[in-house]
Amino acid sequence: MDLEVESEVWNKWGDMCMSCGSCAMVCPTCYCYGIEENADLSFTQATKQRFLYSCNLVDFASVAGDHNFRPEPHIRLKYRYYHQFRGFVEAFNQSLCVGCNRCGVACLAGINPKAVIDDLNETERRGTSRSPATTSTGNPS
Ligand code: SF4
Ligand code: SF4
Repeated sequence: MDLEVESEVWNKWGDMCMSCGSCAMVCPTCYCYGIEENADLSFTQATKQRFLYSCNLVDFASVAGDHNFRPEPHIRLKYRYYHQFRGFVEAFNQSLCVGCNRCGVACLAGINPKAVIDDLNETERRGTSRSPATTSTGNPS
C-alpha cells in the first residue's frame, strides 16, 4: 500500500489532532520510545530510563538547537501513518497495524486509520489530493 504524501487529507486530519499521543500509547505495535538521563550532582550516580513515547507528541522530533523536524500536527500524524502502513511494509513486507482500532477508540478527535485511509483513497480516486499548501517536511518513512 502506498500513501499520498502531498495530500490535503493530512492537513484536514492533522488540524483535528491535539497531539496528545494517546493513539500510540494504546497501540499494541507502536514502539517509539524516549530516553531520560539524570545525573547526580556529585557525579557518583546516574540513571538512564527508557519510556514509551509517541511520534505525535510535539517534541518527538526536537533536537539540539531547539529545532523541531516535525513542528506541525499534520506532519506528525502523516509520519505515524507512514511508519505503520508504508515504512514497515517496505522493511518487513507487512503492515505494522493489526487493525484493532484501539487508537481510534482512544482518540478524542475521532481520528482512526480506517477513516483516514478511506479519505486518502477517496480523495485520490477523485483526483483532488494534491494541495499546494501542504508542507512535506518530516521525512516520513
Ligand atoms: S488500529 Fe493499528 S495503529 Fe491503531 S492501535 Fe491498532 S494496531 Fe495501532
Ligand atoms: S491522532 Fe488522536 S489520539 Fe493521536 S495524538 Fe492526535 S488527537 Fe491524540
